[in-house]
Amino acid sequence: MDPRMKALKEIAEKYPICDECIGRLFPYVEGKNNRERGRKVREILGIKESEECYFCRGIFSRLDEIAKNLDIYQYEFETFILGTRLDPELIKREEMLLDTLGVVEGVESLKKNINRELGKKISEIYGKKYDPKNPEMEIIFRTADERFELHPKPLFLYGRYRKYAPMPQSKWPCRYCKGRGCPKCDYTGRQWKETVEYYLADVLIGVTLGKETKLHAAGREDIDARMLGTGRPFVIEVEAPRRRKINLEEVKREINAHGEGKVEVLCLEWSSKKEARELKQERFNKVYLAHIRCKGGITKEELEKLKELEGRVIEQRTPTRILHRRKDKVRKRRVIRLEWKVTGSHTFDLLIEAEHGLYIRELVSGDDGRTKPSVSEILGKECFVELLDVLEVKGGRPCTG
Ligand SMILES: [Zn+2]
Ligand SMILES: [Zn+2]
Repeated sequence: MDPRMKALKEIAEKYPICDECIGRLFPYVEGKNNRERGRKVREILGIKESEECYFCRGIFSRLDEIAKNLDIYQYEFETFILGTRLDPELIKREEMLLDTLGVVEGVESLKKNINRELGKKISEIYGKKYDPKNPEMEIIFRTADERFELHPKPLFLYGRYRKYAPMPQSKWPCRYCKGRGCPKCDYTGRQWKETVEYYLADVLIGVTLGKETKLHAAGREDIDARMLGTGRPFVIEVEAPRRRKINLEEVKREINAHGEGKVEVLCLEWSSKKEARELKQERFNKVYLAHIRCKGGITKEELEKLKELEGRVIEQRTPTRILHRRKDKVRKRRVIRLEWKVTGSHTFDLLIEAEHGLYIRELVSGDDGRTKPSVSEILGKECFVELLDVLEVKGGRPCTG
């Protein structure tokens, strides 16, 4: 006789074991599922049928009852994945069983077996689709109390934003209360009351009943720089959303009403974790419009000298203003295109297309010789940026809507 069958017979004399649990140990016995294989083995060995089971605590004979503990009505989802968290006692029993019988190819673990059978039952009862590749909901079944945990998968939305008023890009929790709310922040939990992300999050959290947002954007502009033109590409992630059938056109309109005159979203489309990751690693070129003032005045003729900057590689040591948080090093970035226009006796506008990572304020001021060459150096005058706009981020999906 098969020594594994002999070992099983000895186990079954001491502990009750169900057909499902027997079946998953004998993958080489013919049968269309574990239950059938288990019955066959049991009949060969003359073991009495048992719904009770020491090894699964009878879970497989109570699937209907267990699945009814699942309370999904607060959540919107169509697809799910199921995971089982075994309690230590069941793990111990499973180990004992496998140690005694020995593992052969195709033996199914208790965990996998529960995931499949309970997953089928949940599909059947609630009309949801088991989809391990693209689940909207992760359901965790705990054997310890036979209850479920629900973990909605995040939503990812793609868009491009414009920013018209000075504010940081990401959320910025209050440094005293870390976002919980305190007298220092008027109980808003916010160090900066306005950021691009807050404008998006306020609406998205309201619509999805999610917990948190995470903004993944293609770079960032300075707090006081405007973001205009075709906007900056971003993906916003909404964690633990309870609603996910949202009308993106409506959400976009709501965000734009909320951010009126300050933040505008040019489009909002479905996205993915992959796109979020890609955007964060972008190396997109940018087009800037710098409003510049020069000491001692400036003329159209003098500005002609700027021609020599076009196409040049700029050597830029880490700007003085950010040295406190960035390592001092030299970066080389190219100025691709320049256009200029006098706007007053001491002012002009400079349009600059540059490679990713060129610091524009320092390109203009020269930063005490730390940026070379610079606009100030070439013009032989002290010039500085009064207002900086980003006109274009050259990359990311265009807005189709
Ligand atoms: Zn069992
Ligand atoms: Zn606070």
